[in-house]
Amino acid sequence: GRLLNDRYQIKEKIGGGGMADVYLAKDTILDRRVAIKVLRLEYANDEEFIARFDREAQSATSLSHPNIVTIYDVGEEEQILYMVMEYVDGMTLKEFIQRYGPVDVPEAIEIMKQITAAIAHAHENDIVHRDIKPQNILIDTYGHIKVTDFGIAVALSATSLTQTNSILGSVHYLSPEQARGGLATKKSDIYSLGILFFEMLTGRLPFSGQSPVSIALKHLQSDTPSVRRFNQDVPQSVENIVLKATAKDPFHRYNTVYEMEESLEVALSPEKINESKYVPPT
Ligand code: ATP
Ligand code: MG
Ligand code: MG
Repeated sequence: GRLLNDRYQIKEKIGGGGMADVYLAKDTILDRRVAIKVLRLEYANDEEFIARFDREAQSATSLSHPNIVTIYDVGEEEQILYMVMEYVDGMTLKEFIQRYGPVDVPEAIEIMKQITAAIAHAHENDIVHRDIKPQNILIDTYGHIKVTDFGIAVALSATSLTQTNSILGSVHYLSPEQARGGLATKKSDIYSLGILFFEMLTGRLPFSGQSPVSIALKHLQSDTPSVRRFNQDVPQSVENIVLKATAKDPFHRYNTVYEMEESLEVALSPEKINESKYVPPT
């Protein structure tokens, strides 16, 4: 492969979406694998996309947490903007769910605890992720979680400057207040975390429909379906976490991701985790 900046040897493409591609590469100086996110060439002269890419790099580099993908380097070569990051050898949580189906309750809670720890750290730094979905959660071969893709994240201090009401993230994880046209807040991340938890426990999305608009309407109007209807192994206490995170009214949700993390911790205790199971009399 070609060398980027005389240092990074590009191997294969491992992902990408609308505005960027992600490659597996080798850092020839430190002799290790890295992932490099590159702004697509067609956007090399597009001020808006350059600004967005810069914002992503800024948000991601300002965070330092074991459950957030580490950014090693940001640079530019011949108009190509790139971001060098920790390579996560594994798969996305989406692929994980597709491959193995609903995740066992204790494992789903373990995974959620790592994701909430990452988002709590972002929130402490006043960064709202806005694009929490299984495609943006990486899981390595040891089951360690790394949250990635701060592509549409916003710093709350700069909200008025950069945040628009336009819906940028996936409609499947869209909070009711955003569906209504409001700005994304920490509470809207909590809503997306609840939808993500639902998906892990059931292997399906709570709301689907013919069009993005019909899905957005369901986030606004339809009750979150019962997790236990799709997976009888889920204790009521765990279903309650999904329900509280996905409350329509932000005031009825967890106040902080940290609070949600605490509920997950309690749900993992032996008395709680066995709640739904039949215990034979002794
Ligand atoms: P776009 O902005 O163009 O829509 P994107 O923002 O979705 O693209 P990412 O989510 O950052 O781009 O990355 C796309 C995919 O690349 C991920 O879903 C994942 O499969 C893979 N990927 C991203 N970062 C890494 C990494 N550090 N290690 C391994 N794989 C990664
Ligand atoms: Mg992504
Ligand atoms: Mg993105």
